[in-house]
Amino acid sequence: MHVEDRQNLSKQKGRPRRPRGPLLPVGLGVLLAGAVLLAAILLGRSAGQSVPVQGEPVSSTQAVSTPSPAPPQATPLPTPEPTPSPTPRPAQLPDPLLVLVNSETPIPADWKVTPRMIGEEQVDVRMYDDFMAMADAAAQDDIWLWVASGYRSVEDQEEILERGIVRRMNEYGMSREEATQDALRTINPPGYSEHHTGLCVDLNDVSDDFESTDTYAWLCEHAAEYGFVQRYRQSKYEYTGIDNESWHYRYVGPAHAQRMEELDLCLEEYVEYQWEQGE
Ligand SMILES: [Zn+2]
Repeated sequence: MHVEDRQNLSKQKGRPRRPRGPLLPVGLGVLLAGAVLLAAILLGRSAGQSVPVQGEPVSSTQAVSTPSPAPPQATPLPTPEPTPSPTPRPAQLPDPLLVLVNSETPIPADWKVTPRMIGEEQVDVRMYDDFMAMADAAAQDDIWLWVASGYRSVEDQEEILERGIVRRMNEYGMSREEATQDALRTINPPGYSEHHTGLCVDLNDVSDDFESTDTYAWLCEHAAEYGFVQRYRQSKYEYTGIDNESWHYRYVGPAHAQRMEELDLCLEEYVEYQWEQGE
């Protein structure tokens, strides 16, 4: 407002003259403007805006500590998986020799085993010829292979788990719950054992000592030629969740076995690799 305007106002007819003259409204105006400015600053602060104060540098911690409605990333992604494909992937690859069974993936409901006997154990017909050829070749080198455990039905696995639980209760005085938990650390739950496929075998003594035998050394050199891979190795624990088992061999056929060896991939990794190759 200009002084002239106020003078004009004061000259209006019938309007009473203010007792303290025109200086009071100017002072009020300045006060009001100051209050509005202060309110704006305070509001700005509370809304999370950075209002630097002179002589007080805005540090990074200050910037972070200002209340902010959303954190930069709500849930960090734990696995470095590639972007998911638009259609959900089937549980299994089409090639039955690459069927994957582990603690997260059960045996497919429609899986069929056509049994053949090797000694007293059953294996699926798909591995029979190659296993016999491998055992014959080993015998030529004075190496003896025998199948200690081959195909197991889901019922067989239930019995194995139950025996393991009872043994722990009797030997260690564990409660049934404790014994079950402990047994499941080394025995796969029914439906989740690779032995359900008929495509794997436990060889010879099924013991950790097997790793230091000539037989194991022979297998390291030749098993892949006949389509077999050592399924669980210490170096692949993070993928399989199973400790080193020098005696457990999985049949995938010679082509896949040799490729897996070349690429140093366990079955979990190789299945993933196959999906990527197919896409
Ligand atoms: Zn086994």
